[in-house]
Amino acid sequence: MFRSWLKIVDRCESCDLDYRFAAPDDGPAFFSLCLVVPPLALLLVWLQVAFDPPFWVHLVVSLPLLTIGSLLPLRPIKGWLVASQFVNRAQEAGTEKLWAQLHGTTPGTSDFDQ
Ligand SMILES: [Zn+2]
Repeated sequence: MFRSWLKIVDRCESCDLDYRFAAPDDGPAFFSLCLVVPPLALLLVWLQVAFDPPFWVHLVVSLPLLTIGSLLPLRPIKGWLVASQFVNRAQEAGTEKLWAQLHGTTPGTSDFDQ
């Protein structure tokens, strides 16, 4: 469902599902930060308290761990959010008319009915 790191294809290659409904916005970043950063931060605080390493150790260990640790789960979380959005037919409340204008559909019909 991805054409690049986080870009979603327009249509599914297998079932021709139109992915225009997919708008997880900053959800993947939010969940990634909430799930990954607290345990990593605890680990890095423990590293500091237990060993009192010089500053460069944090530049070499902590910074890459936090960066890679929060970037790696973005794609699976985005896939999960798009799937949840489809399954739950989620769209922003009160935006049906705007949604229809943006996506060229008639109000009252759903992009999910395809
Ligand atoms: Zn498909």
